[in-house]
Amino acid sequence: MNPNQCSFCGRKKSEVQILISGQNGFICENCIEQAHAIVKDSVNKTSDSASMAESLEELKKPREIKAFLDEYVIGQDQAKKQLSIAVYNHYKRLLHAQDENREVEIEKSNIIMIGETGTGKTLLAKTIAKQLNVPFCIVDATILTEAGYVGEDVESILSRLLMVADYDVEKAERGIVFIDEIDKIARKSDNPSITRDVSGEGVQQGLLKLLEGSIVNVPPQGGRKHPDQKYIQVNTQNILFIAGGAFDGMKEIIERRLNKQAIGFSSDKINKTDEEDYILSQINAIDLKSFGLIPELLGRFPIITYLDKLTKETLVRIMKEPKNSIINQFTELFKMDNVVLEFTDNAIEEIVEDTMNKGLGARGLRGTTEKVLEDYMFDIENNSKIRIESIL
Ligand code: ADP
Repeated sequence: MNPNQCSFCGRKKSEVQILISGQNGFICENCIEQAHAIVKDSVNKTSDSASMAESLEELKKPREIKAFLDEYVIGQDQAKKQLSIAVYNHYKRLLHAQDENREVEIEKSNIIMIGETGTGKTLLAKTIAKQLNVPFCIVDATILTEAGYVGEDVESILSRLLMVADYDVEKAERGIVFIDEIDKIARKSDNPSITRDVSGEGVQQGLLKLLEGSIVNVPPQGGRKHPDQKYIQVNTQNILFIAGGAFDGMKEIIERRLNKQAIGFSSDKINKTDEEDYILSQINAIDLKSFGLIPELLGRFPIITYLDKLTKETLVRIMKEPKNSIINQFTELFKMDNVVLEFTDNAIEEIVEDTMNKGLGARGLRGTTEKVLEDYMFDIENNSKIRIESIL
C-alpha cells in the first residue's frame, strides 16, 4: 500500500486534493465522487424496479391492494374492492402488453368514482398511487377548457404528471391521473340538439383524446401552448385515469330510472342513509349519460363505483383508525415536546358531532380538533400529560 497515491485510480498525492485513508488503502476525491454516482444510480434503479412489477407474481393482488387501502381509508368497501380489482387488472394489462406473442389486446379500464365531497375519493386515488409508487397528479376538471379558450388545455394534465415524474417520460406513462370534479364538465342538457353546451362538451371531447390512448404533444411547462415551444411526446395508453365527482342530483336520476315505487322502498322500513346508499349502488352508465357525460367518454370509463355517505360512526373511526389519523398526528406532534396527549371516546364523539353540526364532513375534523387543542399547544411547555375528556 502506497501512502502517496489513490488505491483506486493510482493518482499521486500531488495530483489530487484529498487522499482519505482506509484500513488497507487510500481514496481520492475523484474516486469518491464516482463511487457516489454509482451508488446513487443503483439505489434509484432498485427502488424503481421495486415499484414496477416485472412479472405476475410480483404484482400485488387485489386483496393485498385493498388491505393497504384499509390502513388509510375507512369504510367505502365497495369502492375499495372495485378500485383494487381495476388497478390490478390495469398493471396486469401492462405486463400482457409486453408479451410479444399475445393474441388478445386487453383494453384499459379507467374508473369513475361518484360520491359527495369529502367522502374519500381523492384519498383513495392518492393511496393507490402511494402503494404502487407511481407518479400521481390531481387535476380539477373545472380549470380545463376547450382548446383556444381562456383556461388550461387538457394537455396540461400531462404536464403535471411529467413534473411529478421528474420529466421521466417512461415513468409518467405508467402513472395515475385523478381528475376531480368531472361532474362539472357535464353537458347541461341530455339532449344535444336543444342546447349545445360548448364549454362542458368541448372539454369532454378534449379529454377523450387523452383517454383513448394516443401520443399527445405536451408543453413541458404546462399552461398554454406556444408556437415555438418544444413538446414532449407522451403516450397515454398506459396511464390510468381515475375521475371523481359529487354528481349532485344523481340519486333522483337513478330513482327515475329504477322507478322507485316499483321497488317499494316507501313501504320498507329502511333508514334514509341505507336507502340512499342502496340507490347509489345501482348507478350505471345510463345515469351518467343522463347527467350529461357524453357516451364516448363513458365508454372510456367502464368502471363506475360509488362512495357511501360518511356517518357519525365512520367519522369517529376516521378520527382514530387510519395510520395517519388525526388523533395519531396530534399525539405525535405533542410527543415531540414530551407531552402525552390522550382523548377519551367521549371527546372524540363530541368533536365529530361538533363538526357535523357545522355541516362539515371529514375535512372539518382536523379544524375542530385544532381548535380544541389551541390553548394546550400555546402552553405546550407547561404540561407533560393532557387528557381531553370533553370539548364542551
Ligand atoms: P373527496 O375527494 O371525496 O372530496 P377527500 O378524499 O379529499 O374527499 O377527503 C378529504 C379528507 O377527509 C381526506 O384527506 C381525509 O383526511 C378525510 N377522509 C374522507 N373520507 C375518508 C375515509 N373514508 N377514510 C379516512 N379519511 C377520510
